[in-house]
Amino acid sequence: MRSVEEALDAILAGARLTGVETLPLDRCVRRVAAEPRVLAAVDVPPFDNSSMDGFALRAADAPGVLRLIGEIAAGASSLPNVEAGATARIMTGAPLPPGADAVAPLEVVQEVGDEVRMPAVAPGAFVRRAGHDTRAGDSFELPAEPLGPAAIAVLASLGIGELPIRLRPRVAILSTGDELRSPGEELGPGQIHDANTVALAAAVEEAGGEPLVLPRAPDDPARIEALIAAALDQAELLVASGGVSVGRHDHVREVIERLGSLDFWRIRMQPGKPLTFGRIGQVPVIGLPGNPVSALVTFELFGRPLIRRMLGLSGSGRATLPAVACEQMSKDRERRAYLRVRVSQGNHGLEARSAGGQASSQLRPLADSNALLIVPEGEPAAEAGRTYDALLLGAIG
Ligand code: AMP
Ligand code: MG
Repeated sequence: MRSVEEALDAILAGARLTGVETLPLDRCVRRVAAEPRVLAAVDVPPFDNSSMDGFALRAADAPGVLRLIGEIAAGASSLPNVEAGATARIMTGAPLPPGADAVAPLEVVQEVGDEVRMPAVAPGAFVRRAGHDTRAGDSFELPAEPLGPAAIAVLASLGIGELPIRLRPRVAILSTGDELRSPGEELGPGQIHDANTVALAAAVEEAGGEPLVLPRAPDDPARIEALIAAALDQAELLVASGGVSVGRHDHVREVIERLGSLDFWRIRMQPGKPLTFGRIGQVPVIGLPGNPVSALVTFELFGRPLIRRMLGLSGSGRATLPAVACEQMSKDRERRAYLRVRVSQGNHGLEARSAGGQASSQLRPLADSNALLIVPEGEPAAEAGRTYDALLLGAIG
């Protein structure tokens, strides 16, 4: 059996970066930039401008009563010259007119007819200088994470209308099992609803990939082989679930072996021992155990980092924080456990409580959890009062 780290290293080792497409900025959100930085071609803001609605003046003229000579709106292109003794009404974001070196906000002045009574004003008051956010020639380091609204806003402010973006890895999803029916279908004897297909498609999308859902396969090696073979030239990664164990009807492993090469198929973790990994041609294939909890947890630990690596990102993009177990939770001594827990803020840091039953067939506690509590190999249980790493999957409420 391999450790989680050994397995992850082997899975990431052969990862290939996806290609690049150029996208208009409004389609770049939640996507990954293919370049680490951009160079600013312009100053932001491009010109000195007012940060308040008020009056532009020469600071040396204040305090005093100044003559109103005009008005400057945001976007104005012809500007009055503010000479000694004069002032111009100015709006937020409007260019500072020639002559003026400060702005007095509306709230501090008194307007009487064509005259404005000014208090003392410091030179440069309420003036935003050209380039005070970014200077032309500056480089803007793009976040090594999917782009969010703030990074998109910076790019827009720099006038960048399109960006080279990593293609989302196409991830073929194949669920196997004679017993599976689609959600919405009625169940016959011995049948269950297929939870993995939609769940894995959602997890692939969340990780930054593009799910390609294949028709579900029965436990028939010829069908599994045909579906996998047909998907290979459409996908950069194949994720199968079910049929990777040692049962008489578990065929995914033998199909990977027949079409390509099998790397390993046992991990020292719980849930998820019978994880399978291999390669068919250039395409990595991850065979996840069929239990939905095992499938989602192993996808989280191995599939998600692989998709991120293909996008040029590192790690899982999740935070791991120490949390104190508030109760004993038993586990398999030999394997590292990823217990489904709810983590909350206590008086002395984070506290973790079981989110429910820890059997890999109990799916609801996974949905009720916001973290996986990582309890090492060699320990029979998570002990109350001890601190463990908690892999955060959701917000701490
Ligand atoms: P397997 O890995 O094929 O041995 O499946 C292990 C368990 O997970 C069995 O109880 C299966 O019925 C169940 N299972 C397999 N695939 C799915 C699926 N797509 N959705 C829900 N349960 C599944
Ligand atoms: Mg099965």
